[in-house]
Amino acid sequence: MSKHFDLIALGGGSGGLSVAEKAASYGKKCAVVEPDRLGGTCVNRGCVPKKVMWNAANINHFMQIASSYGFDIEKKGFDWTALVSKREEYIKNINDWYINYLADSDIEHISGVGKFIDKNTIEVNGERYTADHIVISVGGEPTVPEVQGAELGITSDGFFELTQQPKRVVIVGSGYIAVEIAGVLNTLGSEVTLLLRGQHILGRFDALIRETLTEEMINSGINILSCISLDSITKTDSGQLTIKGAKGHHITDVDSLIWAIGRRPVSDKLNLSAADINVDKQGYIPTDEFQNTNQPGVYAIGDVTGQAALTPVAIAAGRRLGDRLFGGQPDRKVDYSNIPSVVFSHPPIATIGLTEGEARKKHGDAVKIYQTRFTPMFYSLTEHDQKTAMKLVTVGAHEKIIGCHIIGQAADEMMQGFAVAIKMGATKKDFDDTIAIHPTSGEELVTMR
Ligand code: NDP
Repeated sequence: MSKHFDLIALGGGSGGLSVAEKAASYGKKCAVVEPDRLGGTCVNRGCVPKKVMWNAANINHFMQIASSYGFDIEKKGFDWTALVSKREEYIKNINDWYINYLADSDIEHISGVGKFIDKNTIEVNGERYTADHIVISVGGEPTVPEVQGAELGITSDGFFELTQQPKRVVIVGSGYIAVEIAGVLNTLGSEVTLLLRGQHILGRFDALIRETLTEEMINSGINILSCISLDSITKTDSGQLTIKGAKGHHITDVDSLIWAIGRRPVSDKLNLSAADINVDKQGYIPTDEFQNTNQPGVYAIGDVTGQAALTPVAIAAGRRLGDRLFGGQPDRKVDYSNIPSVVFSHPPIATIGLTEGEARKKHGDAVKIYQTRFTPMFYSLTEHDQKTAMKLVTVGAHEKIIGCHIIGQAADEMMQGFAVAIKMGATKKDFDDTIAIHPTSGEELVTMR
């Protein structure tokens, strides 16, 4: 006989764990099905290990400029292997914490790949489990292009498996992952080339941010090549890669080629057709605003839905779904507008709302822009500086803030509080009426003319 639950989450990442945790808090009997380590992409091969590497890169950056502040330090080396080992130990602790947490919360942890048998039944390792509610939260995985020799490259997953620092690296892509990995490796001393198929990095970001980061990346030594179409990748007997572009570009002696060209949902192993669950051409599972799929009792949250592929969004969707299904809050849902996000580039980027281009398209001449670009005080003593740039996008006579874009030191920590204000409908006057905190970079956001 199959075991019955109130809710089964397929996928033990940010979304699945959150919805199960919330449902269990209402006394519901829940299970999480996960073939891999608990925590999903974010914990195991995304945000968490990435932030550790970004922190390490920042330490190197500070050591490089410490002499400007009077320090006489000698760097004797950097042990990538030791860092990776400490990082993985930290992640293992998080994995173990989740195992204990599920046990303490009476949430069953089913280890394996779950497949639909029908809309209320899942099969894992030959065992069947039924539930009134099934939440699909299986996430995504990096994509690899169809180029001859593409398998010689690695993805962000492989980047986190590197036990030695690659000296000469080529990264293909222009999005979050490409610029983050490029920044980390370059700051840690690797020679980095970034290959773009188009003209720009971060195509969906505000032009001020994109242009400032491009400038900073080039100034810091990253080689950015645009409009490159790849022809083939080959490996020499000594294990080095040669990357050939269609227009005669030729990069040799590459230790590591990293594909960072986007991610795809991993919905194909779920046997969705057995439960008549709709899936689009790319494999994303469409939902309405309440995370309902076309099949009553089946929901999808997180990266598998193709909406705002960010950990906190999956967590919010999971928690709100739990509140809606079991907490007597029938209207509870995620508001997908004004989602703040940070790119952990060097320097970091923080953004919320519409870019200037999007705002002008939507509101025309009602848009007014405030922007600034400066060298933060921290770099006023150093030989090499790193710029900060900020833009506020406002609309209408009251100058409601509908976009805020920051690049520069501490942008990552600056945005969260401003995001609350913007989400609440703050105007430029509200910003102006807020007393500045001096001396900080953040104060520029409330003193812009
Ligand atoms: P992104 O969607 O951010 O960027 C991928 C880009 O790569 C595309 O936009 C495209 O840009 C380019 N590209 C696509 N195909 C090719 C190709 N064949 N050759 C060369 N370039 C190509 O994807 P990522 O993989 O960087 O990240 C996936 C998602 O994960 C992000 O969108 C984000 O939601 C999330 N993420 C969030 C992070 C954070 O919050 N800090 C960190 C990492 C990931 P173009 O069209 O301009 O060529």
